[in-house]
Amino acid sequence: MRRRLVLATRNDHKVHELRQILAALADELDLEVVGAGDVDDASDVRETEVTFLGNARLKAVALARATGLPAVADDSGLAVDVLGGSPGVFSARWSGSRAGASASREERDRANLTLLLEQVADVPDEHRGAAFVCAVVVAMPDGRVEGVEGRVEGRLARAPRGTNGFGYDPVFVPTGDARTLAEYSDVEKNAISHRGNAFRAIEPLLRELLRR
Ligand code: IMP
Repeated sequence: MRRRLVLATRNDHKVHELRQILAALADELDLEVVGAGDVDDASDVRETEVTFLGNARLKAVALARATGLPAVADDSGLAVDVLGGSPGVFSARWSGSRAGASASREERDRANLTLLLEQVADVPDEHRGAAFVCAVVVAMPDGRVEGVEGRVEGRLARAPRGTNGFGYDPVFVPTGDARTLAEYSDVEKNAISHRGNAFRAIEPLLRELLRR
């Protein structure tokens, strides 16, 4: 049976993205990459830290302990220069209850993005710098833990454009391009994204941990 590596997310979109990014490593080490929804004993952890690395660590360690499997967690968000790095770790819930208690993830994403655009409406183009940041932590059942951070720099568009991706993708324009990330294909996005960069950086560490 193939060895399982469990990702600390129930978001199918993320599992899909991460499977693509980890495909070569999974082949090489004969790993099956599964989401937290696919294993028993995985309970959700409250993200109580105020840094991406802190939250990713909380989730990875809890999942490795609960399942006895190597666990990988990421925590990510958008850091806007003029907002001092916010929404940051609050990216997923930036608009609070605005979207309503029964809102879907897409509706919440849209409410977050709309609020953010309102907040920076008066900010001129030269000051609309932002970065997506992603921390990835791998935790082994024996207690070993490693973490890294990846980024992609860019700026905020004035209005949403594009239909791919999720979250703030329609308003994020990577440096050196005119398109938003929601106008990138999955493969193009993975090649430059904060998550792609973080997972590429964790790969050698993951390989080391899984081999020993
Ligand atoms: P988490 O990492 O699941 O806690 O998600 C953080 C939040 O940051 C998401 O709900 C999105 O709002 C935002 N976010 C993280 N990564 C991306 C991305 O690749 N594109 C767009 N939004 C993102």
